Amino acid sequence: MSSGEQVAKYDVAIIGAGFAGLYALHKFRDDLGLSTRIIEAGTGPGGTWYWNRYPGARVDIPSMQYSYQFDDALQQEWDWREKYAPQGEILDYVDHVVDRFDLAKDIQYNSRVRACQYDDYTGLWTLTLESGEKLVARYCIMATGCLSAANKPRFEGDDSFRGEVYHTGQWPHDGVDFEGKTVGIIGTGSSAVQAIPVIAGECKHLTVFQRTPNFSAPAYNEPLDPEYAKAVKADYKAFRQRGQESLVAWDIDMNEKEYAEMSPEEIHACLEERWKMGGLFFYGTLADLLTNQQANDVVSDFVREKIRSKVDDPGIADLLTPKTMIGCKRICADTNYFETYNRDNVTLVDISEQPISRITPNGLEVGDESWEFDVLIYATGFDAMTGSLERIDIRGRRGLTLKEKWNAGPRTLLGLQTAGFPNMFVIANAGSPSVLTNMITGIEQHIEWVADAVRYLQQSGLNTMEANLEAEDDWVDHTNEVASETLLLGCNSWYLGANIPGKPRVFMPYLGYPDYKQQCNEIAAEGYKGFTLSSTGA
Ligand code: NAP
Repeated sequence: MSSGEQVAKYDVAIIGAGFAGLYALHKFRDDLGLSTRIIEAGTGPGGTWYWNRYPGARVDIPSMQYSYQFDDALQQEWDWREKYAPQGEILDYVDHVVDRFDLAKDIQYNSRVRACQYDDYTGLWTLTLESGEKLVARYCIMATGCLSAANKPRFEGDDSFRGEVYHTGQWPHDGVDFEGKTVGIIGTGSSAVQAIPVIAGECKHLTVFQRTPNFSAPAYNEPLDPEYAKAVKADYKAFRQRGQESLVAWDIDMNEKEYAEMSPEEIHACLEERWKMGGLFFYGTLADLLTNQQANDVVSDFVREKIRSKVDDPGIADLLTPKTMIGCKRICADTNYFETYNRDNVTLVDISEQPISRITPNGLEVGDESWEFDVLIYATGFDAMTGSLERIDIRGRRGLTLKEKWNAGPRTLLGLQTAGFPNMFVIANAGSPSVLTNMITGIEQHIEWVADAVRYLQQSGLNTMEANLEAEDDWVDHTNEVASETLLLGCNSWYLGANIPGKPRVFMPYLGYPDYKQQCNEIAAEGYKGFTLSSTGA
């Protein structure tokens, strides 16, 4: 920084104006009275819901649960229109929150953070934006999201395509007109599962390039029943409490019985009942779904049969039937996904054996076969969790980069801090339940824990908090141990970084929200055991 350069100084800098960043701004500014600034790359708030505007995008957790619970008046006054809110409705909610808590004045849009550097002497973080502008803050809140660094795999010739190209996670704000057009889409993950039925209904022809089929249960989305909403609001507290006690931080109405405790007939009846509940409620079939191979097999086979029964052509049905275990990747919640392959204007191309060879000016080639279309869509997901952090040049003590430190995979204490990066707090990312839960609930828990920690520092006349290396190592071991008790290490998913070539294979999220929360609370009650609290700089 050249001498004399004017640099804005804040107590708290927050990167990202998604659900995490917005609540953090409200908490630090309005409850703790700290000067707080959000830096956001987009032109508006909403994070993942700002970027993911592809046709059919909607939440897979019921709207009445996928919302903030920190303010009762907010949850009483907001009326959800659909059982599973579409992207636009969620942005309406986000805009309402921004207005209600007067957040906009402290959000700097259109500003991507290029670098964050810690100063060992002053204990301050300097954030450098892509514009070159800098700002300084004592606390740095990484509200950067888990699924915000788009993964666009490189293919030979990919710049040569002459038609329109889109990524589901960076969808144009004005939408895409598919009428009369031929479309190719790469990927069949959650985004594609939602987008494919809608695009197929709008375009002339859709060709789907599938590497791995996915498990999906029908969402049965519908307008939200006002009587149901009224009943929930009458006792929202108890409703939320059930979510707080659930493994996944939302009320999934979990069957508490394990495979061995039920007869085959009972299991079948339970599966049929759960299938009618639809979507992610299907995770609640058997308590040991993700830990017992027999339990998983019976549930997987049930869904495989359901898929086969929906698709007319047995060859296509076979291609759409997943061979992996259910729950390896997040189960999708769909609307007519498998049925879409019965349409005359949809073609499924299996690229599991023979990958895409190259992109051409008019389409793409798979081995000797070529496919032509006007529009190419990458539904190829994200460099999940660590991607959004590692795309920023983050340097902690003595210039150590986060990239170097996480060379062999993310290392954190409680997912909240990483040793060598004092006062940098990561919200709902690697090392915490985050993506395995209702993200908003996980986010609120994190922000409240960090705000309490900062308040504790202030009350103690201190200003610096940093994870200890030893406690961090223990947490990493513990996270791995919890994951190793499940079946999730034995299959490929972005939870393990398996979708990004060269990414270290580490199970990133922590499974089990109530346990996690309890450990956070215990650590706080013991004066933030495992963290060093100190005073740095003036
Ligand atoms: P994803 O689940 O990672 O799916 C990416 C798809 O692209 C996969 O089918 C993948 O195949 C394919 N792919 C990637 N690279 C490829 C390549 N080089 N060649 C061919 N195919 C390739 O990404 P996503 O669908 O965007 O979903 C990511 C996560 O976002 C979900 O798991 C979910 O947590 C979240 N999400 C949630 C919702 C919701 O709430 N409703 C909606 C959308 C997304 P492989 O499987 O073989 O790698």
